[in-house]
Amino acid sequence: MKRSAADERVLGAAAEIGRRIGSGKVIDDPDLLVPYGADESGLPASLPAAAIRAVDAADVAATLAVAADRGVPVTPRGRGTGKSGGAIPARGGIVLLTERMDRIVEIDREERLAIVEPGIVLQTFQEAVEAEGLFYPPDPASLDSCALGGNVAENAGGPRAFKYGVTREYVLGLDVALMGGATTFAGRRTRKGVAGYDVVAALVGSEGTLGVFTRVVVRLRVRPAATQTLLATFGDEVAAGEAVRDLLGSGLVPSVIEILDRHCLEVIRRAGHNPIPGEPGAALLVELDGRRPERVEADAEEAGEILGRRATEVLVASEPGRRRSLWAARRELSTLLGKAHAGKLSDDVAVPCKSIPAVLRRFAELGRRRGVLVSCYGHAGDGNLHANVLWDDPGLDVAGRAALDDLLGVVLEVGGTISGEHGIGMAKREALRREQSPELLALQRRLKSAFDPSGLLNPGKVIPE
Ligand SMILES: Cc1cc2nc3c(=O)[nH]c(=O)nc-3n(C[C@H](O)[C@H](O)[C@H](O)COP(=O)(O)OP(=O)(O)OC[C@H]3O[C@@H](n4cnc5c(N)ncnc54)[C@H](O)[C@@H]3O)c2cc1C
Repeated sequence: MKRSAADERVLGAAAEIGRRIGSGKVIDDPDLLVPYGADESGLPASLPAAAIRAVDAADVAATLAVAADRGVPVTPRGRGTGKSGGAIPARGGIVLLTERMDRIVEIDREERLAIVEPGIVLQTFQEAVEAEGLFYPPDPASLDSCALGGNVAENAGGPRAFKYGVTREYVLGLDVALMGGATTFAGRRTRKGVAGYDVVAALVGSEGTLGVFTRVVVRLRVRPAATQTLLATFGDEVAAGEAVRDLLGSGLVPSVIEILDRHCLEVIRRAGHNPIPGEPGAALLVELDGRRPERVEADAEEAGEILGRRATEVLVASEPGRRRSLWAARRELSTLLGKAHAGKLSDDVAVPCKSIPAVLRRFAELGRRRGVLVSCYGHAGDGNLHANVLWDDPGLDVAGRAALDDLLGVVLEVGGTISGEHGIGMAKREALRREQSPELLALQRRLKSAFDPSGLLNPGKVIPE
């Protein structure tokens, strides 16, 4: 196969990196590079000319030094589960793989923190922490397949973010390598600290465009001793949305408030999960946790009473098997919706919680107008809705895209944001102009060039040109 001049330049850089860190860490066989051209966004793949399998910070620094020197783009990659195209090498070049950097360096029980490499699978890390009686709460539904470094880069959230916050709340410090090969530590190992600008805050959620994390210092909590799970069913999603408002207004702080609309429940049932009785119009999955079982039980009872004012039924999923099957169904939902329809476009938006009932009504209406279905599930306690535009007739592709566009308009109109947790990446780069002012975009371009003057680190992402 004839290679372009750009690819030849990348291969020259990869060979030089191989000389510095070991040629066994270089992948340049086009067949072996295929998995590194895509992620879970559904965006078209873009193949890199080479990949480097880093095993430590020195490998990362050497890669960034040679790439900067030779003018080669580098795209960092965790486990490739991103939903916005962040790990797709949009301009080819080198993909920097971090999955072999998966060691837990330290779990400090006394200080309640851990130092960990970025490639570790989140669930593996959580289990290690829980074995010590501690707790790392961020829980994206992809937790068994995503990496902690990818979570930091995307500032990932999950159902428990309502009570415990998103990844940002847990990152105290970062070892980071910059394009050109310089390395530094940003942040702290203490629970408090305000020295200098909050560079960690800029790096968290930077989607691999400012620097490559080689170690992460995260804060841990004490593991809750008890959890109660409630499942409330409703006549429609608007009633469920109103119940979320009631619950938020009560002062109770559930760890989880998840909403599922009628269509999501139907798809779960058709897939054979059947964890939800009857054929409700919507459901809320609510969890309460804490250190004192009797307190958690009392709170769950109160939550059940509040939900019961609008619900058709409130069930307590006390045995672990029932709880597991509810969560398995919830975690699979995105995949199940994709399998159930010929066309699916999804958006991960966040709106003020008080707007949820109105937003759900407007999403359904705009779908009807365009001849497609809009089905929602998500983290209702945070107003973070996964809105899915679905259709079965391939002729509706254009209408589907237009509905997604309308949907973002509704979100921005009520004061929401175009991404609650999946990031901007390539998928929403142009749409960012609809939410942020030209001045704010220009400021972010200047920030990017302060970290990466060559613009070679993960080019084509986040900030529109
Ligand atoms: C079924 C499914 C469910 C999901 N559910 C959720 C959810 O509930 N909440 C949520 O927030 N997300 C969710 N996601 C999206 C995704 O799992 C998260 O964004 C996750 O944080 C990505 O991690 P990753 O390791 O796969 O990163 P990748 O996809 O490999 O990379 C994501 C971004 O991080 C950058 N990056 C990776 N490693 C580093 C590093 N060491 N240094 C600097 N930059 C780096 C990449 O360049 C890229 O821009 C889901 C995805 C799937 C497929």
